[in-house]
Amino acid sequence: RQPIIAIDGPAGAGKSTIARKVADSLGLLYLDTGAMYRAVTWLVQQEGVSLEDEPAIVELVDECEIELASPATTLSSPANTLTELNEPQVSINGKNVTHQIRSREVTADVSAIARLGVVRQKLVEQQKSWGRQGGLVAEGRDIGTHVFPDAELKIFLTASVEERAKRRQEDYKVRNAEIDSSPIPTTEELEQDIRQRDYTDSHREIAPLQKSPEAIEIQTDSLSIEEVTEKILSLYRQ
Ligand code: C5P
Repeated sequence: RQPIIAIDGPAGAGKSTIARKVADSLGLLYLDTGAMYRAVTWLVQQEGVSLEDEPAIVELVDECEIELASPATTLSSPANTLTELNEPQVSINGKNVTHQIRSREVTADVSAIARLGVVRQKLVEQQKSWGRQGGLVAEGRDIGTHVFPDAELKIFLTASVEERAKRRQEDYKVRNAEIDSSPIPTTEELEQDIRQRDYTDSHREIAPLQKSPEAIEIQTDSLSIEEVTEKILSLYRQ
């Protein structure tokens, strides 16, 4: 079987950037599981379904098709922006929602959607089936604990709330400069968002955000992206 590397951690710890780099270096696919919960959240909002209306959410989730593709395989026409070029594309029911799923509105509701057993069951099933098809670097909250408990390597990335808010703000700046011009949240607002989301994610009943006992924790506050990537690659090669 091809290797699976699990990278978990709280919001804004740098999981996406790092997981993509590790995947590129090892020639493995990159699986952003958070993007899947975000895509479902976007769909729920788009359809005007209330977060309390579980039966309606179940119906949407049951019927939805999520596609995650690396830029190389999806961008047939010239890309408009740097972000578009570099970012793996996310589609739900045939609609490309790569940028929409990063909005503050989606971010605010995603933890409430990710709490629901039916949502998790459907998405985790899809994640496991991708894992059976080949090697992956999968990133999320429950990868080492629930999705791929047999992963070859499990990493738990952390950083202080202040550092994570700063990084998130940088993401917003790049995105807003290229995609839209909605106001950039302050670091205080982002710290608030992050604390709230970490709390909900780690206190939910099903598959809460938790470090797997086998996972190696890396505190990334004073490390560069390259240093973290190298550390993971060297742990993998050990
Ligand atoms: O990683 P990202 O911040 O994009 O994840 C968005 C949200 O999706 C998380 O806050 C969490 O509620 C949910 N999630 C999850 N399990 C995963 C990945 C993400 O519950 N494996």
